[in-house]
Amino acid sequence: MTLSTTTTPAATKPGTTSGTQTSATAASSSATSATSATRSSRRAKAAPRIKPRDPRPLAAFVRARARITPHMERVTLGGGELAHFEYLGYDQWFRLYLPTGPGSLQRVPDRLTSASYARMMLAPASVRPTLRNYTVRAYRPQGRHGGGPEIDVDLVVHGDPADGTAGPASTWASTCAPGDEVRIYDEGRLYAPPSPGRSVLLVADETGLPATAGVLASLPADTVGTAVVEVPGPADRQALGGPAGVELRWVHRAADGDVPGRAALAAAREVPVPPGPVYAWTVGESDLVTTLRRYWVQAGVPKADITFCGYWKHGG
Ligand SMILES: Cc1cc2nc3c(=O)[nH]c(=O)nc-3n(C[C@H](O)[C@H](O)[C@H](O)COP(=O)(O)OP(=O)(O)OC[C@H]3O[C@@H](n4cnc5c(N)ncnc54)[C@H](O)[C@@H]3O)c2cc1C
Repeated sequence: MTLSTTTTPAATKPGTTSGTQTSATAASSSATSATSATRSSRRAKAAPRIKPRDPRPLAAFVRARARITPHMERVTLGGGELAHFEYLGYDQWFRLYLPTGPGSLQRVPDRLTSASYARMMLAPASVRPTLRNYTVRAYRPQGRHGGGPEIDVDLVVHGDPADGTAGPASTWASTCAPGDEVRIYDEGRLYAPPSPGRSVLLVADETGLPATAGVLASLPADTVGTAVVEVPGPADRQALGGPAGVELRWVHRAADGDVPGRAALAAAREVPVPPGPVYAWTVGESDLVTTLRRYWVQAGVPKADITFCGYWKHGG
C-alpha cells in the first residue's frame, strides 16, 4: 500500500459545506438526541448491510486502556459474553451501552427495536445506560489480557469534560478502568459492494479511521483504489495494513479550530473517479459524507455503488 500526506487548509473550496441531509450523533440524553439517535439507527438500518445472525446485548469488561495517539484512546474489551461475538471484519460496528450508575446496564433491552429503545429512553438519564455507536478496531479470538476473545475499540477523545464539551463516550474513553462493565450490541457491516472486483474509494475523518483500518485489512489483496483519511495532525496517524494497490492519503487539519471533515472532502475531490466498476464508501462527520456522496453522484458514480454514513454531526 502506498502512502502520501497532505495538509489541506479547511475552507479551500467555497460551497463545500452545503446543506446537511442527516444528523449523525447519538448525543446526550435530551429528547432531540433521542430523535437523532433513532434517525441515525433508522438511516443505518436503511443502508444495505451485512447483519449479525442473532444479535443480542453481550456483557464485556474493560481489559486495558491506552492513549495511542494524541486524540485517540484504545480500549480493549474482553471476558463476559464476548465468546458469543461473531467477527465479520471490514467496518463492523456495534452499539456501546455505557453504565451511568449501579443497575443502569440492567435496563439494556434484550432486542434493540424502536419500541424497546423508546421504553429505555423513558427512564431518567441518570438511571439508564448511555448508548453510542463504535467500530471494531481489532478482534483477537485469543486475547492478550486474560483468556477468551478480545475487541479493541478506538475512541476519538474530543472536547473537554471540564467545560461539558466532551460527550459521555469520550469521557468514558479517557477515564474507564480495567474491570469496568459495558454491553455491546453487534450491528454488522455497512461496507457491502454490489459486486466483487471493483476499484475502491474510501474516505473518512478520524471517527472513521477504525472502520477504514478494518476495511483495508479485510480487502482482497488484488484490490486497487484510494483511501483518504483525515486526522487532526501527523501524530494522529496510525500504521494501517492493506492491499498494495490501494493508495492511502493522510490529510491533516491546518488549525485546531478547523471543522473536521472539510480537509478530507477537499482531498477526496482531488481523487479522480477510477474507470470501470467502482465502490465508493465514506463515513464520518455528517456534512463530509453527504456532500461527498453528492459530488460522487455528479461525477457519475451510480447511487447504488455508494455507501455513506454520518457517524456524528459537528455542532450537534
Ligand atoms: C456506525 C458508527 C460507527 C462509529 N465508530 C466510531 C469509532 O470507531 N470511533 C469513534 O471515535 N467514533 C465512532 N463513531 C462516532 C461516535 O459514535 C460519535 O462521535 C459520538 O457522538 C461520540 O459520543 P460522545 O458521547 O463522545 O459525544 P456526544 O454526546 O454524542 O456529542 C457531544 C458533542 O460532541 C460533538 N462530537 C461528537 N463526536 C465528536 C468527534 N468525534 N469530534 C468532535 N466533536 C464530536 C457533538 O457534535 C456534540 O456537540 C461511530 C458512529 C457510527 C454511527
